[in-house]
Amino acid sequence: MTGQNISISSGFDSGNITVLGRNGSSFDLAIVKDHQSDFYQWFHFRLTGAKGVPVTLRLTNAGGAAYPDGWRDYRACASADRQDWRRVPTRYGDGVVTISITPEADSVWLAYFAPYSMERHHDLIARIGKCPGVVHDRLGATLDGQDLDLLTIGDGPKRVWLYARQHPGESMAEWWMEGALDMLTDGHDPVARSLRQRATFHIVANMNPDGSRRGHLRTNAAGVNLNREWHGPTLERSPEVFHVLNRMDATGIDFAMDVHGDEAIPQAFIAGFEGIPNWTEEQGRLYHLFRDTLARRTPDFQTKHGYPVAGKGKANLSMSTNQLANRFGCVAMTLEMPFKDNADLPDEAHGWSPERSMRLGAECLGALHEILDQLPAKA
Ligand code: ZN
Repeated sequence: MTGQNISISSGFDSGNITVLGRNGSSFDLAIVKDHQSDFYQWFHFRLTGAKGVPVTLRLTNAGGAAYPDGWRDYRACASADRQDWRRVPTRYGDGVVTISITPEADSVWLAYFAPYSMERHHDLIARIGKCPGVVHDRLGATLDGQDLDLLTIGDGPKRVWLYARQHPGESMAEWWMEGALDMLTDGHDPVARSLRQRATFHIVANMNPDGSRRGHLRTNAAGVNLNREWHGPTLERSPEVFHVLNRMDATGIDFAMDVHGDEAIPQAFIAGFEGIPNWTEEQGRLYHLFRDTLARRTPDFQTKHGYPVAGKGKANLSMSTNQLANRFGCVAMTLEMPFKDNADLPDEAHGWSPERSMRLGAECLGALHEILDQLPAKA
């Protein structure tokens, strides 16, 4: 019980931390920057040999992270079984995040949010890929040589694209995908059956496998923010976007959703495509209809808090939502879930969680089902 053999490691899928120093059971740590980039905020490491010992973990470079506002009222996630992730006492001051934990097990894992590993990604793709009526394609390779996976579900005329985790540290985005995919392939769910008849879903559950495995916050293996590449992706910088956009051009799009997490805002919300050159009132009406429908369906989504809206003609067309809305005349949106919690409906033990992300995924499909008939029929 002396804690002499306490150690910290991050040599695993999506691991990220450096140990700078140690004083008894207090550790000075630093989050590692994304490769060839200045972004950092994602951390994920294992603490071993500290059962019953009060340990202090100081993230000493937190103040210089990508979103320092993200640390205010933030609590770190910890798990002894890597299934159940609980929030632990965390405070932020003088640019340092300090986590206090007395592990109840020999090993405990700590992370910015419950991780979604590439192994779990492969399990998800394999499990959904063998469901009746699902086609699994490989769109191409990432810079690290990983596969970029596409799932196609349903055979209806409306063309729906769902894609997640352009920013790999936003692991809640792939938890959302797991919830959406389980719902959409549920043979006993009448809404899912109706969706599969009326629409064809093209789904990329993980847009950024390399950043995910490397433990990045925001970029791919070349340090590129994929959500600033949609005006002109290249195989050298952003093959992930290059391959997905090529397939989108082949299928066309009526409805698109890009799934993310937001470091600072403690609510789920969506951002639209106001300010695109080709904006139409009907596009805007359908976007607001979806947003309001989702807010009516679940208290884990709201319309009051979110990002400021771009002015006329001011949309950034390097971002996927703006690019797709402008390019296809479709309804497109960026869904943001909190890293912290839904402050309007807090969960003291878990904060925002994988389970809530999954349920929101299913609710988003329910809202889409409500408005699907109003999406314009393709020419
Ligand atoms: Zn993001």
